[in-house]
Amino acid sequence: MQDVTEQPSALRWYYEGLAQNTYRAMKCHSCGGYTFPPTGCCEHCGSWEVEGTELSGKATLLFATHNISPACHPRFEKIAPYVYGHLVLKEGPVVQAIILGVEAKPDALRALFERGPVPAQAETLKMDDLPVIVFRIAG
Ligand SMILES: [Zn+2]
Repeated sequence: MQDVTEQPSALRWYYEGLAQNTYRAMKCHSCGGYTFPPTGCCEHCGSWEVEGTELSGKATLLFATHNISPACHPRFEKIAPYVYGHLVLKEGPVVQAIILGVEAKPDALRALFERGPVPAQAETLKMDDLPVIVFRIAG
């Protein structure tokens, strides 16, 4: 197993921010794109000229469904069943994340679908190990 101290610094910086309810990404000096979660280079153009920045946490939920059972990873079994979805962040990146504010039931998901794109706000879900970014929709 890899020593945690050998992880890329961008990843450590991301998780340290997440634990403090801040959502960190890299912004590219070459193309202006955001890379989220942050890495050492731009996911859009490949440039290494990136700089750490904080995201607003604002997003629009495009699509949501409930998880399959069992949860996709043992660390998520405690919170299953849950809803996950695709969101576009205000700053541009598209992410998949757990969605709070809607029940993981077919009727609730149908009603959400019929609402169309829904505003969402990032939150940090504290886990036993690493924190997880989730998004809450307005009810
Ligand atoms: Zn770029």
